[in-house]
Amino acid sequence: MIFRVWIKNLSSLTIGGSTDLGEVDIPMNRFQFPGSSLKGAMRSSLHRAILEWGEELEKMGYKLTSCGEIDPDFIEKAHQERPCDVCSLFGRPSLGVEGRSKVTVIRDEEQEKKVYKLTRVGIDRKTRVKRNAALFSQEVFKPGEVFSFRVEVSDDPRELSLVLLSLLYLRYWRLGRSGMVDVKVENPCRGQCDELGNKLANRLEEWEVEE
Ligand SMILES: [Zn+2]
Repeated sequence: MIFRVWIKNLSSLTIGGSTDLGEVDIPMNRFQFPGSSLKGAMRSSLHRAILEWGEELEKMGYKLTSCGEIDPDFIEKAHQERPCDVCSLFGRPSLGVEGRSKVTVIRDEEQEKKVYKLTRVGIDRKTRVKRNAALFSQEVFKPGEVFSFRVEVSDDPRELSLVLLSLLYLRYWRLGRSGMVDVKVENPCRGQCDELGNKLANRLEEWEVEE
């Protein structure tokens, strides 16, 4: 099934390639927020959600696992019994290959968003000390932009619930290094969600932060 997801940035969102001086929230293409970046954020978000809400989820019949690994060798070890739920759904982040993700995220065609330049002060990542005169500029999307995506998942209610969980947790986690976002989802349930899926879909139907 396919449903629509809207992401609104509450903080300014940095874009472009990572530099020595600063980290960005959305890697890759300039002037774009690709679906693959949202999918990566959903993957991290699901991992966090399982860590933070594991007990609550277990009470609802969801005993979930997340290996939390990115290195392919460690993933192999962590998956000796069976692949964790995060990797089963989003695939493994192995070198260049997506590792059979069951989730597809596509950015909707729309007008390009306006990009602004912010001047920032470089912080040395190792020493955490302000560098002398290390001013640099970063391109950002200003707060309040809405980006729309289509998310495709199977009709399995459990997989749909995990995808909704990853989207809800994005509100409490972050996009990239520091991006604060709100999330809204077109209700995908149409009578085929389980209890958790229905709860999540109801909460995601409206923006969390009122305008
Ligand atoms: Zn895993």
